[in-house]
Amino acid sequence: MKRLHSEAFLDIKAEKLMIPLERVAHVQSKNNLEHALLVLTKSGYSAIPVLDYHDKLHGLISTPLIMEAILGIERIEFEKLQSILVEEVMNKEIPRVTTNSSLNQYLKLLVDHPFLCIENEAGFFEGIVTRRVVLDLLAKQ
Ligand code: AMP
Repeated sequence: MKRLHSEAFLDIKAEKLMIPLERVAHVQSKNNLEHALLVLTKSGYSAIPVLDYHDKLHGLISTPLIMEAILGIERIEFEKLQSILVEEVMNKEIPRVTTNSSLNQYLKLLVDHPFLCIENEAGFFEGIVTRRVVLDLLAKQ
C-alpha cells in the first residue's frame, strides 16, 4: 500500500487489511476440545475464531480456556477433552467489526485485542485484522 496521509490511513476499511476466512485457522462450535487443542497447537496461535456451519461467528477459543475447562483438583483431566464441546467453553464476549468499518473505528479495540473478527453486513464471518498488520502498515508510513 502506498504512503497515506494520517486521515487516509485512519479511513482504511477493515476489508482492506483483513486476512480472509480461507487463511484463518478456526474451529466449529460443535467440535470437541481435543480438535480445538489440535488446531491451536498445530497453527501456533494462542486464540482462534469459533464459527458455525454457516460461517457465522460465535466466539473465540484459546488454549488457556481449554486448560481451565479440564483442570481437576489434583490433575489435568485430559480424558475430558473429547466430551466437552468448544461452544461450552469459548469466550462469547468479543468485539465485532464489520468489513466497511474504518480504522479509526476499530483502532482502539486493537489496544486490548491482538486481532479482531470481521463480519459482513449479513453477519457472516469474513476474516480477521491483526494488530501486527496495522502496526506494520503504520511503520511503513
Ligand atoms: P500476529 O499479530 O500475527 O502475531 O497474530 C496475533 C493473533 O491473531 C494470533 O495469536 C492469533 O490468535 C490470531 N491470528 C493471526 N493470524 C491468524 C490466522 N491466520 N488464523 C487464525 N488466527 C490468527
